[in-house]
Amino acid sequence: MNWDKKGRLTKQFVLYLAVMLLAVIGTTNYWLYQLSVRDIASSLDGAAEAKLSGMVSLSAYYLSHFENQLLMGMVTETGKHQGVDYVGIHSSDGAINYYAGRKDAPRTRLYLRTIQFHDQTIGRVELGLDTTAMRDALSKAGWTALALACLSVLTLGGMLFFFFRTQVMAVIERDEQEKTRIRDEQEFFKAVMNTADYKVLVLDPRCCIVLANRSCIEMMHKAKEDDIIGKPIWQHIAINLGDWSLNAQSVDSSGVLNPTDLRQLTEERVYTILPQTEQRETVVEWTFTKFAESAGGLRYIIGAGTDVTVQYHEARRLSHLAHHDVLTGLPNRSLFHERLQDAALKYQRNNTSFALLYIDLDKFKPINDTLGHEAGDYVLQQVALRMVYVLRKADTVARLGGDEFGVILHDMGNRELASRVTKKLLDAIASPLSYHSHTLQVGASIGITLFPNDSTDLKQLMAYADSAMYQAKQSGRNTYCVFDT
Ligand code: GH3
Ligand code: MG
Repeated sequence: MNWDKKGRLTKQFVLYLAVMLLAVIGTTNYWLYQLSVRDIASSLDGAAEAKLSGMVSLSAYYLSHFENQLLMGMVTETGKHQGVDYVGIHSSDGAINYYAGRKDAPRTRLYLRTIQFHDQTIGRVELGLDTTAMRDALSKAGWTALALACLSVLTLGGMLFFFFRTQVMAVIERDEQEKTRIRDEQEFFKAVMNTADYKVLVLDPRCCIVLANRSCIEMMHKAKEDDIIGKPIWQHIAINLGDWSLNAQSVDSSGVLNPTDLRQLTEERVYTILPQTEQRETVVEWTFTKFAESAGGLRYIIGAGTDVTVQYHEARRLSHLAHHDVLTGLPNRSLFHERLQDAALKYQRNNTSFALLYIDLDKFKPINDTLGHEAGDYVLQQVALRMVYVLRKADTVARLGGDEFGVILHDMGNRELASRVTKKLLDAIASPLSYHSHTLQVGASIGITLFPNDSTDLKQLMAYADSAMYQAKQSGRNTYCVFDT
């Protein structure tokens, strides 16, 4: 339990309790105080009423019988009573004005009654009572109410506080324990995930990262989980499959991953290819599965990633080996045929023609025979390099076997163009090359055919090129021959 938090919650609770009690007890006491104020005031009024009624009836009699001496005596006598500040009797005609004391004293409360005789008003009685005692009583009542209020607040508040505090604290404690339990559980699962070698990634339906294990965080080159949580996956790593990739356009207008991309992501094995580290790319193969809530809606997308870098590069190496010549690194016969087919398809789409060259080195065998196989290999490698150098990047040079090479020259509409490039090739091949202390020179015979002019059948085209090459051999070598039907 966090004691700072506990203290803060206790303070809040005490404050809340105090305000509640002050409101309830304050209102009750104020009401009681008002009742006693009314009581005290009415007892003073009662006393005044009793005195006045006696005086009024006597004054009516005395005034009507001109008993002035008795009137004066009554005034003087009443004026001596305790609590009476002022007493006065005045006849209506103004002839009699008997009074005793002061009626303008600050604490005097003045009462007035008319004197009636046979339904005639013949005068009035005035009585001024001292309110000091009443005020003292009121203030005493006020202080008592306040003291009572404070005492009640303290007693009741104290009782309530001790009664509820334990319960409130127990609830807070339980809540804290629950939170700690959940936190511990999360830490436990994270620890389990972090021990795994594979990558674990949890995405929400918007493809934002909810959870990632350590292996995954390291793959993203981040120090901690907070750096990636809540951000879209594509901000950190690319997830691809061929031309398809998960990106900002994969979410629809409501911000949720669209069904097509969701299907692609969860029904296929997808990949992350990370930039080169230690001279090669790291490749992760992902399997994503949907996790739906009990109501059926998509809640999470859980990904398990395996590092397939070794397998990926091995597969690439094998694929390269299957399609390339080991000695020269050039495409082999099978890849050359694929390229030929691509070029033919390109013609169907864009109407672009190409030239096919069949090349056989001249008198290559004697190099092997005189200087050894290694010298022959070296010559083959150099010839390959020279041809690649002379041709455009888009063109294809392949080793078809032995000392035979094939070339595809794109966008070659006529024989003249193809012949010009072929001459450049012949020059490049024929220029001397040094091998240890020897200077070697090798020529080539080249047969040229044009697609689609000579044939659109690729097998036929190859056969034509081969026969044109033989023609070149026969016409003295180190030359080319354009196939002519
Ligand atoms: P021609 O002028 O009529 O073409 O004759 P050539 O001497 O060039 O011989 P040919 O084309 O008939 O034979 C090619 C030779 O190339 C046969 C073989 O000994 C040699 N050869 C084939 N593959 C390799 C290779 O990988 N390395 C080396 N060093 N020689 C090879
Ligand atoms: Mg040869």
